[in-house]
Amino acid sequence: MKLHLFIPAIILLLFTVTPISAHFFSNITSIPSSLIPNTTLWDGFNQFLGSHKGQKVNGLAKLKKYFQRFGYINSSSSENFTDDFDEILESAVKLYQINFNLKSTGELDVQTLKNIVLPRCGNPDIVNGTSTMNSGKRSSYSTNSTIHTVAHYSFFPGKPSWPASKTELTYSFLPENQLSENVRSLFGRAFERWSEVMSLTFTETSSFDKADIKIGFFSGDHGDGEAFDGVLGTLGHAFSPPLGLFHLDGDENWVTDGDFINASPLSAVDLESVAVHEIGHILGLGHSSDKEAIMYPTISSGTRKVELANDDIMGIQELYGSNTNYNETNPVLTPRNESEVNGAHNLVCSFWSHGILLAIGLSLFLLVL
Ligand SMILES: [Zn+2]
Ligand SMILES: [Zn+2]
Repeated sequence: MKLHLFIPAIILLLFTVTPISAHFFSNITSIPSSLIPNTTLWDGFNQFLGSHKGQKVNGLAKLKKYFQRFGYINSSSSENFTDDFDEILESAVKLYQINFNLKSTGELDVQTLKNIVLPRCGNPDIVNGTSTMNSGKRSSYSTNSTIHTVAHYSFFPGKPSWPASKTELTYSFLPENQLSENVRSLFGRAFERWSEVMSLTFTETSSFDKADIKIGFFSGDHGDGEAFDGVLGTLGHAFSPPLGLFHLDGDENWVTDGDFINASPLSAVDLESVAVHEIGHILGLGHSSDKEAIMYPTISSGTRKVELANDDIMGIQELYGSNTNYNETNPVLTPRNESEVNGAHNLVCSFWSHGILLAIGLSLFLLVL
């Protein structure tokens, strides 16, 4: 069975859900207070401060679901989690701490919880129980360097990429979103950040059905098994090549001018920052444990991060080669972190997308027969 047999069914399915208008604000001060929540989705996890193995704390089952969603607890584990801080949860916390360069204690300390509650990409960090975000493998540049360096970039399982015959990818926006020229050009800039350093180029097309990359804002459940969750929480997700599906949470307060100077955290999210990250997935990159990397999974609200780090550049060039015009003078390499896992594999990120879409596609395919 080939995945491409199901893609028309998947597209059909996405059109059966009602698209929504997303919230866009030119700057942070223009967000009405009614759209700014008092608490964010995962703030409740802060009540677990100091919790550790052996305790029972009301609500811990929800934290287990969080870890399961992002790959830290096996997806085949029971859906009926208890509130016991058991070994499964302790292992999940330890692995999470390793991936995010925190002290791996297995305890829910301040730094760990601070990180857990941050808004993030909906793609998981771990697939098949193997952590690959913090592989600690040496970079290809380090052989010629006297600096002790390491790369953290990663790929989807099987390292899928767009075929070499495709040097130009087209992208298009879900027509029902009716995005302004300003928002569309913002995505154009996000694509350019990648095309500056690699061999692929990107062109907008008005033909959504035929575009290689299909960009859409959706609210809540939108048919691919990974419902969005309102303000903050998960901000977007994207599928591995060559699916090209790029989804953003329409309920976020998306800021388009990127001016966050002197801004309080609020709930504002910089759209271009998230767009650059999700394009990395569309091209085949998984998450990175390099905090400076675009492919790091979390981003604080009220911050802007749009520049590719050397970790991102090395990863994308491993897949597609360099743009011949790109000048890679003195790349600043990522320092090795003490908490890296030796010998971990370097395959990462969201394989759920394939699984879910295959299941949906198969169901529809069978219905048609
Ligand atoms: Zn991501
Ligand atoms: Zn989606």
